Amino acid sequence: MYTCPYVPAQWIAAHGLQPHRLIPAPIEGASTIPRIEGLCPYARAFANDAAAGVEVTGIVLTTACDQMRRVFDLLVHRIETPAFLLNVPSTWQTVAAPRLYLDELKRLGRFLVRLGGREPSKEELARIMLDATASHPRDEDGVHGIPCGCGSGAPVAVVGGPLMQRDRVLFDIVHECGGRIVLDATETGQRSLPAPFDRRRLTDDPLLELAQVYFQIPDVSRRPNGELYRWLAAELPRAGARGVILHHYVWCDKWHAEFERLKEWAHLPMLRLDSEGRGEMDSPRVRNRIHAFVETLR
Ligand code: SF4
Repeated sequence: MYTCPYVPAQWIAAHGLQPHRLIPAPIEGASTIPRIEGLCPYARAFANDAAAGVEVTGIVLTTACDQMRRVFDLLVHRIETPAFLLNVPSTWQTVAAPRLYLDELKRLGRFLVRLGGREPSKEELARIMLDATASHPRDEDGVHGIPCGCGSGAPVAVVGGPLMQRDRVLFDIVHECGGRIVLDATETGQRSLPAPFDRRRLTDDPLLELAQVYFQIPDVSRRPNGELYRWLAAELPRAGARGVILHHYVWCDKWHAEFERLKEWAHLPMLRLDSEGRGEMDSPRVRNRIHAFVETLR
């Protein structure tokens, strides 16, 4: 079980285990990790939902943010389910960074074998990657459950960190307020999908191709994070977004710090929504703010 987009599902599946990307609900009453001042609600909800899951063989977290490292430290002392911390280098322009990520995937592979998985052959991994390429979600409408962008409402992009399942009500509220979501650039949306695999490179060395594709996923945590802006520069106009809602959870320093830069860069009206993960997205206050924002886009 994992939630970070830098964990390749195909690598887990190639070991004969079932990958499950957990987007926390969060589950009511799950409290392996209590509320702690300064702890990201998404990271906490992920750990609690994962710990509450039945038949979970192992949990994979990454170093993509400090909060997840912290949750890993808390988790290993509180549950018996084996947990693994995958090092994802924040720098990506050096020769060493993608190599380190590749080595980390190999280390993850050894962890998966210890959990009862089998060492995958190149052919098996390649076959699983080819299957994923054939059914790539970019080919489908409604990636990760985003509403269809058609209709007459004001076109809005949602950008930011991950959204818990409960907070996806945000999309419905935008719709009810006269807008329509044309781009889900949150961590749980289109932005964090890996690019399609290159079939030729995949045949030569599937693990290398897997590592290269996943390592290129654009994110605010990268240093520098210019690829995120490159991705947005292509996708915002393609989607026809006239306004941007930036959502992040409190204590998510990365997105908190990015707002001003993004606002200056985008040249589009922006609304910032931060939440404590207590279901505030569905509150009258947030609804009023979204309504007022959508009105300005008409
Ligand atoms: S929301 Fe931000 S702080 Fe929380 S786990 Fe994601 S990146 Fe880390």
